[in-house]
Amino acid sequence: MTTANDNISAPAGGRPTVTLRKGAQRRALAGHPWIYSNEIEMTPAAKALPPGQVVRVKAEDGRPIGTALFNPHSLIAGRLLDTDANLAIDAGFLARRLERALALRARLYDKPFYRLIHAEADGLPGVVLDRFGDTLVLQTNSAGMERLLDPLIEAIERVLRPEALLLRNDSPARKLEGLETYVHMAKGTLEGPLSLEENGVRFLADPREGQKTGWFFDQRENRARVATLAKDMSLLDVYSYCGGFALAAAAAGAREVTAVDRSEAALALAEQAAALNGWAERCRFRRADAFTELEAMAKAKQNFDIVVADPPAFVKSKKDLGQGSRAYRKLARLSAECVRPGGFLFIASCSHNMEAGLFAEEVRRGIHDLAREARLLASTGAAPDHPVHPALPESAYLKGLLLQID
Ligand code: SAH
Repeated sequence: MTTANDNISAPAGGRPTVTLRKGAQRRALAGHPWIYSNEIEMTPAAKALPPGQVVRVKAEDGRPIGTALFNPHSLIAGRLLDTDANLAIDAGFLARRLERALALRARLYDKPFYRLIHAEADGLPGVVLDRFGDTLVLQTNSAGMERLLDPLIEAIERVLRPEALLLRNDSPARKLEGLETYVHMAKGTLEGPLSLEENGVRFLADPREGQKTGWFFDQRENRARVATLAKDMSLLDVYSYCGGFALAAAAAGAREVTAVDRSEAALALAEQAAALNGWAERCRFRRADAFTELEAMAKAKQNFDIVVADPPAFVKSKKDLGQGSRAYRKLARLSAECVRPGGFLFIASCSHNMEAGLFAEEVRRGIHDLAREARLLASTGAAPDHPVHPALPESAYLKGLLLQID
């Protein structure tokens, strides 16, 4: 872990300045939080700055643009923190951003289980902070925030006083910023899975060993929406992870739910949570590859009233777009084939490289490949604890479609 405190509350005079190229200030002045490396005068002095340095940004004509985190080795070389170019970036600043984010979540949700910081949209570029009651899980996915880790932890302590704080710093995003990966308890201990409550339902998640930070809070509203259809219905949840959709449906009175995932550990948590809630006899868990299982079910003419398909990102980078698009189309076809006539399909994409219109088109094609008619009931996104920065519409990564299929 590399943290340096030399810059964090530096007086304005001691803060290095980077200069934008001619004309490059337009987007920043219009409120865009990112400055690309080709928009900055990469002088030897700028190039020599340590990754994550807090800098003052000025336009070519000398006009101040703001305070930013600077990484000369990243395509996103500047991440603006504030339009005040002299603002002290210290634990106090970070605590104010945390407090603002906390006030929003307290307004949105009555229980302390949510994404508390969603990066740029919450004014902390690259930071993800998920809250499981008194346990917090932090990711610092930008060199700047890695460098500010000590004051960030101090601010978290000040604002939230968690019992445990896990640094789940093993995300692929860190590689783009030249950061190493590690998982480390910054405070307290974390033994085994945690219990969390969402939409009044108890779930189990494992922030240390699970996917990402342990739980996908982004699907909260979508799980609730699917659950409203679930009473007395049968539901298939493919890519179920810890049973987010499956158990929400069981709680809403589904007759029978089947969760499919390739992760034994995730299914074990789903199964334990089902037992904990007393729904074990209505829930089935199958460890399998999703496409193989869907193909087998389709072949056996096995139908469900509702199918949920919420896969991992099929388009991890722009070069995967063609292949990933075909995978979404195939997933739509196979999962729709397992929907009984008149039943429902909820299908999602969390690939930020897959634009909403294209996703909807691939899903439409997949269903059309079966020669079945469908109607779109809802196009959804992530829950509001995953806000979108208005200037970064591409950060609205989650797309969900709810359809009825004849
Ligand atoms: N729907 C879940 C989140 C899904 S995350 C929720 O509501 O929380 C994606 C899941 O897909 C992970 O649990 C991962 O184990 C699983 N997965 C990835 N590839 C898979 C495959 N080929 N077959 C089945 N499951 C897969």
